[in-house]
Amino acid sequence: MNLIGGQWVPALSGETFASRNPADPDDVIGEFPQSGRADVAAALGAVAEGAGAWAAAPADERARVLVRAAELLEVRRADLTAELVREEGKTPAEAAMETSRTPLNLRFYAAEAHRVGGETYQADATLVYTWREPVGVVAAITPWNFPLNIPSRKLGPALAAGNGVVFKPSPVTPLMAQRLVEALLAAGVPPVALALVHGGAEPGAALADDPRVGAVTFTGSTAAGRDIHRRVGPERRAQLEMGGKNPVVVLPDADLDRAARLIVKGAFGLSGQACTGTSRVIAPPPVHDPLLERVVKLAEEHEMGPLAADFQLRKTLEYVRAGQEEGARLVSGGRRRDGKGFFVTPAIFAEVTPGMRLAREEIFGPVLAFQRAADLDEAIALANGTDYGLAAGIVTRDLGRALEFARRSRSGLVKVNQPTTGMAMNAPFGGIEQPFKEQAGPALMHFYTHQKTVYLSE
Ligand code: NAD
Repeated sequence: MNLIGGQWVPALSGETFASRNPADPDDVIGEFPQSGRADVAAALGAVAEGAGAWAAAPADERARVLVRAAELLEVRRADLTAELVREEGKTPAEAAMETSRTPLNLRFYAAEAHRVGGETYQADATLVYTWREPVGVVAAITPWNFPLNIPSRKLGPALAAGNGVVFKPSPVTPLMAQRLVEALLAAGVPPVALALVHGGAEPGAALADDPRVGAVTFTGSTAAGRDIHRRVGPERRAQLEMGGKNPVVVLPDADLDRAARLIVKGAFGLSGQACTGTSRVIAPPPVHDPLLERVVKLAEEHEMGPLAADFQLRKTLEYVRAGQEEGARLVSGGRRRDGKGFFVTPAIFAEVTPGMRLAREEIFGPVLAFQRAADLDEAIALANGTDYGLAAGIVTRDLGRALEFARRSRSGLVKVNQPTTGMAMNAPFGGIEQPFKEQAGPALMHFYTHQKTVYLSE
């Protein structure tokens, strides 16, 4: 059901869609409302009216509610982990990592409720100070690949700042969204300050279009992010976390076993469905072949869950075919596994050149492309040579070259001797071209609050 005005209701059209287990698509997890513009309008009307009381609640109360929600998720952790495996297809170990991080996020953002503050300025005898207040209504539009974690990084700070929230999760993982909302309601978020609207791009676009939404926080594909940005326009704000085509450069001095381990983790963890996943390896001639051999061996042993949906399976197999057609060499994997789930074997390509789709386009599946570079300069040029700028890694023992790479890399996250995936909860996160990447740090709450400058004379 959708949550609108404190009631669990179906879509006004009565239409539904099914959420299915990607390891066994005959296993239907549930039917959820296929919402349209009218459902969004109703949700927005309710939250716009209900948000005021939440904004007026003391920061301490908002923080307490978020901590209570974290506790409820922790108590339910084993069940949530099993449901996450069933709905998204993460392995149990990957799902357990997510269900432990989500409550930590809520605790972290609860503390931020107390840290909203301003500054004072001297202007002759006038006291000038800044004051922050909630934006009003925040729309959170989220993907399926971290269906608890990413929403917790949006609903957590939005609610901590005193906003009302309309949450539009991915139609691939609606049950996880419902679980998060249930925990927030049970913890004491007023049901009129929070709405849940299920469905796909249509309700997402309706949220972005509506002037009652003061801020849209979005994570998902670059195409959808650009569309949302255009809809939101210059007078309202959008936080856009979009795609990546993340490279790892391996220098000749690197420990190749270690390099292979972190490449396989980055490329094939979450079945290759991480925005910061490694999708390219760039290596000079002495390293290239021995590294490729090690990566192939480790990838063949890597335990991978199914892809999250049938469209993910089709897209991955299509890129494997396109890579072969464009002349890249498929060294290993790239085949559908027998059985009814959306399982594939990790695909590794060599001899990938910069013009190929494998080198330029985000696949968001378990497909890894090896590229050759003569030296660090060429490696950096290749690493930077896509339209994306999310994460980039280098494996080397040479600190000077690592620092040079960090300086010259055109990406928002640089990892030295670490997988491209993984993030610290207290550090800014996001692509270099993406606005508002302060998901932590002193500027964290700025996206979720308006700033006023007040001039005060006696
Ligand atoms: P998606 O863009 O298809 O969907 C994301 C969300 O946006 C969903 O809720 C979807 O229903 C909604 N949506 C789609 N089109 C829309 C539109 N035109 N207007 C409004 N809403 C719209 O992405 P996905 O398949 O769910 O997730 C995979 C993508 O997310 C990948 O590109 C990945 O790189 C990206 N991602 C980025 C980050 C990051 O932090 N940078 C993290 C995770 C995933």
